[in-house]
Amino acid sequence: MRKFLGDAFFGGACFVCRGGARAILCEACRAELPLLARELCPRCALESPGGALCGRCLAEPPAYDATVAALAYDFPADALVQALKFRGELALAPLLGGLVRERLPAGERVDWVVPVPLSAARLRSRGYNQALEIARHVAPARLDIDLCARQRDGAPQMQLPWAERQRNVRGAFDCRRALPGASIAVVDDVMTTGATLDEIARTLKRAGAARVVNWVVARTLPSA
Ligand SMILES: [Zn+2]
Ligand SMILES: [Zn+2]
Repeated sequence: MRKFLGDAFFGGACFVCRGGARAILCEACRAELPLLARELCPRCALESPGGALCGRCLAEPPAYDATVAALAYDFPADALVQALKFRGELALAPLLGGLVRERLPAGERVDWVVPVPLSAARLRSRGYNQALEIARHVAPARLDIDLCARQRDGAPQMQLPWAERQRNVRGAFDCRRALPGASIAVVDDVMTTGATLDEIARTLKRAGAARVVNWVVARTLPSA
């Protein structure tokens, strides 16, 4: 059904260049996706010489233990992520989820996969949670959509200065059961400051989780 919808939406044209394509992206556009360079901090997925733990993670360790990010948040990754998030292009979810899945370390095992939740109000207005749509294509067998809930919406993180994002999400999430010793993967579309993922990881660890890893489609670089 999803395959059929994808064909109906895109009519055999590449989502990016509109040239002929057998999948959502033509082979040329897929080959040009901005895959992240290899030498990344294992904890936050920012570039780090030799793939060592970066200075920021050493100085202020985040609550999450590791981050796997597939793409840099550059064109066309930004266009794909925004089309899924704001324009209901759900047929992009298998592509974006597949890119994350391909990036996971061999043998990576978690007990549960949790999409970053939307508040009930935002879910009603958007009609779907893009993080959940992505997560369905990363590790569907481990998906638990009810484990974590969002109690309230702050201002959208995108509209806030970086320094205020941490405060904006503090206490926003709630974990619905104890997770003694569990290993959890949290799925999101974009990781920018990491404030939202840090807060979710803090919430999951308070519930007993031993390890929390982020699986994200795209990583924004903080220097600008
Ligand atoms: Zn193309
Ligand atoms: Zn780091």
